[in-house]
This record gives sequence, C-alpha cells and structure tokens, in this order.
Amino acid sequence: MFLSSRVFLVLLSGLALAGCDAGPGQSTGANEAGHSAPTASTAKANQQVLEQRPFDNREDFENARRGLIAQDPDLVIGHLNGGEVWNMPGYAFIDSEGENAPASVNPSLWRQAALNNIHGLFEVTQGLYQIRGYDLANMSIIESDTGWILVDPLTARETASKAFLFAREHLGEKPVRAILFTHSHIDHFGGVQGVLQHLSDDEKANLRIIAPAGFEEEATSENIIAGPAMTRRAMFMYGKRLERDDRGHVGTGLGKGPAFGTFGFAAPTDIVSETGTELTVDGVTMVFQIVSGSEAPSEFTFYLPEQKAFCGAELVSRNMHNLYTPRGAKVRDARIWSGFIDEARNLFSEAEVYFASHHWPLWGQDNIEDFLIRQRDTYKFIHDQSVRLMNHGATPRELAENLQLPPALNKDFHNQGYYGTVSHNAKAVYQHYMGWFTANPSQLNPLPESESAKRTVEMMGGAQKVLAQARQEFDAAADMDVTEGRNTYRWLAELLDQVVFADPDNRDARALLANVYDQLGYQAESGPWRDFYLTGAYELRHGAPEEGIKPAMMREVLLHTPVSLFFDSMAVRLNADDAEGKSTTIKVTFTDLQESYLLTLQNSVLHHRKISDDTSADATLKLTRPLFVDILVGNAGLKELLFSDDLSFEGSKLDLIGFFRMLDKPEGRFNIVTP
Ligand SMILES: [Zn+2]
Repeated sequence: MFLSSRVFLVLLSGLALAGCDAGPGQSTGANEAGHSAPTASTAKANQQVLEQRPFDNREDFENARRGLIAQDPDLVIGHLNGGEVWNMPGYAFIDSEGENAPASVNPSLWRQAALNNIHGLFEVTQGLYQIRGYDLANMSIIESDTGWILVDPLTARETASKAFLFAREHLGEKPVRAILFTHSHIDHFGGVQGVLQHLSDDEKANLRIIAPAGFEEEATSENIIAGPAMTRRAMFMYGKRLERDDRGHVGTGLGKGPAFGTFGFAAPTDIVSETGTELTVDGVTMVFQIVSGSEAPSEFTFYLPEQKAFCGAELVSRNMHNLYTPRGAKVRDARIWSGFIDEARNLFSEAEVYFASHHWPLWGQDNIEDFLIRQRDTYKFIHDQSVRLMNHGATPRELAENLQLPPALNKDFHNQGYYGTVSHNAKAVYQHYMGWFTANPSQLNPLPESESAKRTVEMMGGAQKVLAQARQEFDAAADMDVTEGRNTYRWLAELLDQVVFADPDNRDARALLANVYDQLGYQAESGPWRDFYLTGAYELRHGAPEEGIKPAMMREVLLHTPVSLFFDSMAVRLNADDAEGKSTTIKVTFTDLQESYLLTLQNSVLHHRKISDDTSADATLKLTRPLFVDILVGNAGLKELLFSDDLSFEGSKLDLIGFFRMLDKPEGRFNIVTP
C-alpha cells in the first residue's frame, strides 16, 4: 500500500517537473541556492530505485527506535564562538518514515537519512545506553559498579557536552570512571573535553582513558601533513556549504555529518595492544580485539561478556564503508579489514546485541551473525573480484563499471553504498596495489587539465559548438532509459568540465555543467557522492569559499602531536622558490619539554633532528610548545612575539623572520571545479 503511494508521489513530482521544465543550462525552476529542478530522467531513475531495494523491510526503523528513553525535539547546538554546529530540526523536511522521497533525492539515501534523523538517548540492553544523533558518531554509555564508562565522546566539545548532560539528566548523575576511544578518527575523541569539563577534579584524577595502541600518534597526526587539502575536500564530501533541503544535503550515510565545532584531545592512560586483552573497569569486564589497519590505523572492538554485547566500533556499520575516503586519505586494505570482521565473528559469537560507533544496534545472535558475515563478504568480494579483473587488465574505470555485489550480498540495506560505494571502493583496491598509473602510456605524462582542455575544445570546433551539442544531449537524456540517461550525464560532466577548464569564464558552460552535477547528485545513493556533485554545482555558481576551515580549530589536538611531526608539517610548507640558494640552521628549544631540535635548510629542503642543548646554530629560538603551536596555526605572529617576553631569541631577527616567511600558509580554499 505505502509502496504504491510513494511511486505515485515520485511520479507526480516527475510530471510537475516536466510541465515547467526549462531549457538546459537555464536556471528556471532553480531554488535560491541555484540548484536546478530534477529532470524527468532523474525522476525516472529515482523512481526505479524503489524496485531495487527491499523497502518493505522496516526492521532498521524498529531497531533505530528501540529502547528510546528521551528525545530533545529542539536539538540545536551552538558553537563556542557563536553560530551553530548542530541542528536536527533542520532535517525535519525528511519524513520520519523515509517514504516520501522527492524526485531530487535517491529514495534509498532518503531512507537512510530518515534513519539517521532518529536521535535521542536509548537503552541498548540492561546497563548499556547510547546517545545517537548528537553528532556524526554515537556516544555509548556503560553502567559500572559505581558510575559510568563512556565510549567515543563525539567530534566536538559542544556536541559532546550537550549529549553528556542530556544523558546525565535522564540516567542520573554518577561519576565517570572511564572513557574509551575506539579509534583514532576525530569523530570518536574530538569532543572529549566537552565531557571532561563537567567532571570533578576527583573524577578526573581517577579517570581511566582506554585506547588502542598507536592511538595518540595516529589521532594527532592524521591530518597534519595533508590537512589543508583534506579539510578543503571535506567541505565537498560533507556538503558543508549546502543548504539542508531536498536539493541540498540530506545526510552523509554514516550519520548526518560531522560537527565542525571545537576539537580537543586527552591522552590515554591505558593502552590495549593485543587481541584477547581483558580489562575490568569499575567492575565491568571487557574483552578487546585489535583491528588496526582496517577502518582506522589504530582501532579496537570489544565485547562485554556480562551483557553479551559486542561493540563493533567502526569495523562494521549499517552501510558500506569507504576503502577510499573521497575527501582524501591513504587507502585501506580490504583484505585485512574483511579478515578482522571474520575474527570478530569468531571471537564474539556469543553476542546477543551489537552496538557500534555509528548507526543503530542489532539484537539477536542470528541477526548479528548474518550481518557480520555479509559485511565481511562485502569487503572481501570487492577486494577479490577487483584484483581478479585487474589481473585480467581492467583499468580502475572499467573495474568500477563492471563490479556489482552478487544478489546474496545485495538483498539488505546495510551493504549499500550510502558512504562508500562499490564503484570507488573497487578503484581503491586497484590503487592499493597499483597506484595511479594504468600502464597505458597516454596516461604516463599527460598535459595538465587546463592545457589539455584548451587544445581539445579548440580541435572540437570551439566552446560554442561543443556547448550547443551538449545542450541537445542534455535535453535528449530526458527520453532515454535510466542507465543511458545517467551515462549521458556522466559523460557530459566530463565533457563540460573540459570546456570550463579551457575557459573558466565561460558562464554558459559553468551553468550547464552545474545542472549536470545537480542531476548526478540527485540520483546518487551515496551521501558523499551527492554532496560532492551538489557542492560542485554550488561552487560553479557561487565560486570557491572566501574562507577555508581554520587550522586553529585543531589547536588542542596539535598540542598533543609529537613535536617531530610539527617539523614534518613545516617542511611540506617550505616554498622551494623562496628557499632557492639559501641555507641556514635554526635551533628550536622547547622550554616546557626541555627538548631542542635543529632545523637545517639546504637544497630547498628542510630537515630536523633532535639535538643536545649545546649544539650551536645560526639562530636560536626558545619558546613553549603551546606558543609554537599558536605560531603554526596562525594564532600568534612571530614578528610581534620577537618583541615580547614570551619567547627568547639569539641571532639575527631578520634571518629568523625571513625563514618563517619561506613557509606557505595554505588557506584551504583552493578551486576544485574550476582551474
Ligand atoms: Zn567514525
């Protein structure tokens, strides 16, 4: 019954669109942000999805609502410096059952977005609770003999504080005895200070912070070297610039999105390095499994024998995860990942409840077993079949096009590409083994994009001619079958990208390409794909952002970064042209750490090594690590500091200022959809 009403709704919106369909490249029917109306072809494609997924299966909705204790209908969380970091009412345009997808959203993604809208405090099983929908990740709460054990205190101080206070309000005020960081990604530890701020000195003094081996180094260094590029790309991946509406961001598959608030850190007191390690924390027994090298470089899962509860951390989740993260990251090893899921299944086969760092729990041994097997096989299938085809000569594009999950793995929702996709994960497998080169010599040394595009467009008869034909194709797509229509959009995206890269001032080309991106975004089942396409469309219409994400946001995390990594991150900012022909040595002494390092500039390369205090250098700088971090993130200017008492200095001030001037300050706002 409800299926047919949904089909009808989608049909209706498709028809309404056909009636007011404007010419391609025009923005008639566009919303305020400029996003064009879904075309008839897109409406048809999204309608077809209703037949491809088992929408009648409502178990996920039951599980996502099970055990609800309390919900805050006005869940809006402000940033410490003003503005908002979290706004759940902003997603109220998504119907609570996820059944009424508009033509501009893939119904499968819409459903996942509705599930991720279900927020509040939930009882998972006796003595085990979760706060969901207060951030990208979940905070889990385990009742211990005399207090609480918290698992994964969210991304930001603001959201973690709000979540913690909400839980305390409804569960009662008891001391926090331990915090677990399941892995080194910031959505699982960045909010820790938001919890710590509410604890008494006594609680803090006795608090155990438990993390997997390698946590501190991985957590504080993941985004240091390539941070500016990753955060800029994250704006695309998480739709940071998009409105929350049916032509904008609906969710990121894994959750609503990360809270861009105040990030923090706290050093672990207990490190778990071996699978099978058993800890008893305030009367609660936990058995750990180390899964580092799967979803994160430092990660564990754990089992609570008394509750028969398995915390899967992010080893498994209710969607297909990323082997390659489109914001940019080192690729993950699907073979190892799948192996760890199998190990978890064997180790914790008694589990009667599964809960994790994202999404809702699962109850029942058989359900958990089935879920783990199919998650395991999803990653192994993608790995094995990608390698098989690669060994037959398939290129990454061919792999992505030809690989599909087998029917047995395709019959539920949790293997679907709401976050990762078969397409980009297959490419990740290729990249893991082969890197960027397909061995086709035409790809060995191609011209940069703009140069190649200029020559191509010229040989095709110029931009006008290409655009005229592209418009015809765009129109024609409306009458094509779904696959052909989508493939036409995919090809037009590539073609028009060349016209834009040949001449970024060509407004018609930008407008038509933006319309093409809109359609690809509306059809995407993956949250990040939707956000990439729609952000691309947005930036073609409105340009790159005026401001990047400020590095100062990472200040608290950087304070715990191994010093050696700071210097590595300085070295990748050295402007080689400015450094040409210069050589110098600078001694940096951290007065609080009582450590000295020698920086050597030579051959346009910056090296560093730890030295004894009596080593001489051209200049010596003495300061504290926090002050050094402030200089690095731009909170403090070296020039001003040289004339203050906060640091001491020997040698030529001009030389030192000259040295720091050779370091770029990447702004994280570079162009992506234009040259
Ligand atoms: Zn996460």
